Amino acid sequence: MLKTLSDLYASEDRNLAPYAMKNQGSRGRTRPEPSHPFRTEFQRDRDRVLHSRPFRRLEYKTQVFLNDAGDHYRTRLTHTIEMAAIVRTVARVLGLNEDLAETISLAHDLGHPPFGHTGERRLNALTLDHGGFDHNAQAIRIVDVLEHKYPGFDGLNLTWEVRAGLIKHRVPGVTSLDGELLPPHPSLESQVADLADDLTYYGHDTDDGLESGLFVEAELDAVELWREAAAKAEAQGLRPGVEKHRSYAVRCLIDSMVGNLVRHSDHLLESHHVGSPDQAREFSMPLIAFSPDFAKKANELREFLYANMYFNPKVLAINNHAANQVEELFHFLLKHPERLGKATRDRVEHDGLHRAVADYIAGMTDRFAMHEHANLKG
Ligand code: MG
Repeated sequence: MLKTLSDLYASEDRNLAPYAMKNQGSRGRTRPEPSHPFRTEFQRDRDRVLHSRPFRRLEYKTQVFLNDAGDHYRTRLTHTIEMAAIVRTVARVLGLNEDLAETISLAHDLGHPPFGHTGERRLNALTLDHGGFDHNAQAIRIVDVLEHKYPGFDGLNLTWEVRAGLIKHRVPGVTSLDGELLPPHPSLESQVADLADDLTYYGHDTDDGLESGLFVEAELDAVELWREAAAKAEAQGLRPGVEKHRSYAVRCLIDSMVGNLVRHSDHLLESHHVGSPDQAREFSMPLIAFSPDFAKKANELREFLYANMYFNPKVLAINNHAANQVEELFHFLLKHPERLGKATRDRVEHDGLHRAVADYIAGMTDRFAMHEHANLKG
């Protein structure tokens, strides 16, 4: 039985919660397009992101460890895939729109430059007089302007809901899209993606940190959430220090975070009688959240990771070296704009040289940046 588009929309009406964003409630695309015979608008958006070049480049971009550090560490791509899986689980059980939430997840890190947050900070410092650089703003720029795939327009022409969902940090009365002020909070689907992004990296960075030896389980025992997860592994007969113990404890850690997120968010949505997507966006606080006591515990883990991983002197030294390469590339390309890629060169007149160079470098993977830097030195 071939389902029609109206069957797919009817099933959203039947199965999704009243506060979910439905395709038929979408504000649509900047440039209107005819509908597809068997894919909803949010499905099409997901496919557009998935088939884009910036998505494929996530494979060779740093999550924490530089791309050539080891084959088992997370990259931006595997981080994104793990996050999208968690987001689908949460969206489904809360009755939210899985396709929308997944699309926002798949696109959320598209704007990251090479070498992670260190690369981002350096690129921002280099462009401060020209608007600065922020990976969230860059994600919007990629999907709105920089991708060239479709006849008749630049960018991916995504729906308003996906584009607005990529703008996570909002200042009420200031943050806008297409010249129009945005509500204080993004959609619930975007809120799920935002919190799932955090809990996904808490989980996998704990795993990668142990794998790399940046810290050991005995140090992690200072963190309550880890102690609880490790106790569950031991209750299964697994001894600390054994690989299965670590894997199972990480699994329990993620499960506890997702479980609390789902249960507390459901409690908030029910107790505040949230009856529409607009009510959720205008609400006085985010409605997708850990319970307050659990949020404290999650924050303890976050602080451990910051101190022992992201700001670990060994990681910082490597990242700073990489950021210096970004800086040298930046100055080189300012002097030699003829070395920019063709699509970027074509934008210099419109966007200015500094923005074009920032776009070009931001699009680079770690390995391409290292390769270009070596070329420039050679
Ligand atoms: Mg992320």
